[in-house]
Amino acid sequence: MKSVNSFMSRIIKRNPGEPEFHQAVQEVAESVLPYIEDKPVYVKTKILERMTEPERVIIFRVPWMTDSGEVEVNRGFRVQMSSAIGPYKGGLRFHPSVNLSTLKFLAFEQTFKNSLTQLPLGGGKGGSDFDPKGKSDREIMNFCQSFMTELFRHIHSDNDVPAGDIGVGAREIGFMFGQYKRLKNEFTGVLTGKGHSYGGSLIRPEATGYGLVYFVLHMLKLHQRSIDGKIVAISGSGNVAQYALEKCIELGAKVVTLSDSSGYIYDQNGIDADKLAYVMRLKNEERGRIKAYAERFGCAFVAGKTPWEVNCDIALPCATQNELLEEDAKMLIKNGCFCVAEGANMPCTPEAIEIFENNDILYAPGKATNAGGVAVSGLEMSQNALRLSWSRAEVDQKLQEIMENIHRTCIQYGYQPDGRLSYVQGANIGGFIRVADAMIAQGLV
Ligand code: NDP
Repeated sequence: MKSVNSFMSRIIKRNPGEPEFHQAVQEVAESVLPYIEDKPVYVKTKILERMTEPERVIIFRVPWMTDSGEVEVNRGFRVQMSSAIGPYKGGLRFHPSVNLSTLKFLAFEQTFKNSLTQLPLGGGKGGSDFDPKGKSDREIMNFCQSFMTELFRHIHSDNDVPAGDIGVGAREIGFMFGQYKRLKNEFTGVLTGKGHSYGGSLIRPEATGYGLVYFVLHMLKLHQRSIDGKIVAISGSGNVAQYALEKCIELGAKVVTLSDSSGYIYDQNGIDADKLAYVMRLKNEERGRIKAYAERFGCAFVAGKTPWEVNCDIALPCATQNELLEEDAKMLIKNGCFCVAEGANMPCTPEAIEIFENNDILYAPGKATNAGGVAVSGLEMSQNALRLSWSRAEVDQKLQEIMENIHRTCIQYGYQPDGRLSYVQGANIGGFIRVADAMIAQGLV
């Protein structure tokens, strides 16, 4: 613990005002420092110190014009965290809360996650404090084109391949891909999450949500349980939430909640496939608020709150970081929840995780459970390089195998001296080793 404290005081001093980054590093340091204590090869080469320093950070101005002719200025970022095992890879987030701290935490997590997939993918993340809410399609295009007009010099299909994240879906990826192609005059797989007609992989939209549920199946199987008939609470109503919900329905679970930043809906009858089709239209086409679901289907809408107060067996936080707090964790346990798996990145606070682990709740962190998205992005890169397209069944099969492998890695490194399984420890150590060994092999770079 002493070495974690001194490691963290150095991190905090070097990265002031970046609480999300500190939080992500602390969680990894708590697993990795005890593990490397008796392994001088990692200590002497200062691997964790090097991993917590991004290889490169790019910050740039993004000027654009509204439909009414007003000039707006946003800030663009790309954090190129680690290229030890492959090109930088990680999504772009457009949300007013985006800052360097958020993106460094996401890029750091991404490095471990990408390593866990066993694919040749380094870690990166980027985005802007631009708020896509309420903007017209033309304003979104203006912004995306301006953003790419600077980003294009820093990315390439062989060195940095961004994808989507919060606020960046198929529409935004399309606009950015078009601008990259125009500026570079080359048609390459420089972004993933593209539309299928221009190089996107089948199953990429579904991959994070499906992969999350595949991982949950393995967690449950280890404890001789199944998902059939279980009550599931999901937060968020974006890409990850929608496809986690779809897979839960397909496997016989009953999902009772969805949310957005204004509150959550509670549908005691369960959200079925028809209601999900409505949510997809509402969120992806009309870009409406989740409250409309409650009005349409006559169920409860709870304004300003998260879904963690309802009765459920399984909780899948799929919205954003630090959305599930200590008191939420206690409430979930009180209401019978026995399994929590993260669809979002770092949605549970450290205090909430401690409650889960101390109460023997089956809990698994996002860097393991939501890796399906980046894994299929990796498969999209392979298909683009080969200039061919695999079938849905082929990609889904590979996704299932990758999630099973990640689960196996967590088990390999996750058992603690008292015999308890910590998915946090398993994911952190499992992700660390591959990156660390590659860094050592490549010398002091
Ligand atoms: P979307 O933009 O599609 O959806 C995000 C959802 O979360 C929306 O319902 C949004 O509500 C809600 N949300 C966002 N910010 C907040 C907030 N501050 N408070 C409450 N609710 C919020 O994003 P994704 O589904 O793609 O991403 C969700 C999470 O999953 C993120 O943590 C992301 O990093 C992670 N992730 C995504 C992957 C992917 O493939 N897309 C891969 C791996 C992880 P509202 O519309 O009101 O803002």
